[in-house]
Amino acid sequence: MMCSKGSLMTMVISIILCIMRRLGCKAVADATIEELKNKTELFVKEGNRAPSLAVVLVGHDAASETYVRKKAEAAEALGFLHFQYTFDEDVSEDRILSLIRDLNERDDVDGILVQLPLPGHISESRVIEAISPEKDVDGFSPVNSGRLLAGEDCFVPCTPKGIMKVLEHYGIGTAGKKAVIIGRSNIVGKPMAAILMQRGVDATVTVCHTKTPDLREYTLGADIIIVAAGHPGTIDESYVSEGAAVIDVGVNRIPDASREKGFRLSGDADYSSFRDRDVSITPVPGGIGVMTVAMLMSNTFEAAQRRAR
Ligand code: NAD
Repeated sequence: MMCSKGSLMTMVISIILCIMRRLGCKAVADATIEELKNKTELFVKEGNRAPSLAVVLVGHDAASETYVRKKAEAAEALGFLHFQYTFDEDVSEDRILSLIRDLNERDDVDGILVQLPLPGHISESRVIEAISPEKDVDGFSPVNSGRLLAGEDCFVPCTPKGIMKVLEHYGIGTAGKKAVIIGRSNIVGKPMAAILMQRGVDATVTVCHTKTPDLREYTLGADIIIVAAGHPGTIDESYVSEGAAVIDVGVNRIPDASREKGFRLSGDADYSSFRDRDVSITPVPGGIGVMTVAMLMSNTFEAAQRRAR
């Protein structure tokens, strides 16, 4: 595992002072983007078309619009081609499926992403299954999920892939460690469990969910806790033992009239409760969210590379 000089120093200081260690992710994401930029320039110099990403957005959910905008900005900063398809909430499932079939066939599209959630009248599973596995840069299709579970080459879902990169950056080893994941969604909890239990990653994994009677029974024994529940305050310092690492995936909008936007962002962990604890924790914002976008770009580049071969 690699650990940068700066992060090693922060770790040593935190241990000596017995204070919380903030696992900021922006620098990790920026480094990934910088590396991708260089790779993209080389790829294009070698005579290839720039990688391209098609993004499908249905409806006007404010959070989804923000995510899509961030993805577009990252793609443009990298010199990727970027196509966006925006539909009103009442668009039919058939229209979306026919667009996806069209994007699957197009030579100038390497990656396809459908921003979730979709309105209730559109089946997310039918839409995801329609995306060609070779262009499924979110890694949500059954083919890629199955390959991930089998430990085969695949597009790894962006959030768990970003989490692995953050653990590696901060020198947080997984081999032989007890990892507890809170949340069993197809986009975070399940793929995270599949990665952590893989040979070579070698964590012992427990997945908790809403029917888990006593979360603390599991989290207090964990070396690594990944919380992706979608509720602020799902865990606080009383759930975490000394020396553990908390990866907070949650992104929750808390109404806040004092902010220009009318809300502030909060994770699923009560961040401030960890201040005097020897615990490493990712912040929100500035945490896993930025990694997710960077990993989407990484998967899009990978898709372009595979198709160019
Ligand atoms: P989801 O709603 O699909 O799944 C939430 C899971 O958490 C469920 O499996 C549920 O059983 C479990 N859960 C909820 N409350 C719980 C509790 N009190 N105890 C134990 N388990 C509990 O959500 P998701 O799509 O996996 O997203 C989870 C959170 O992560 C959301 O806040 C979402 O916005 C955020 N998210 C962030 C990123 C990112 O890039 N940072 C990416 C994806 C999701």
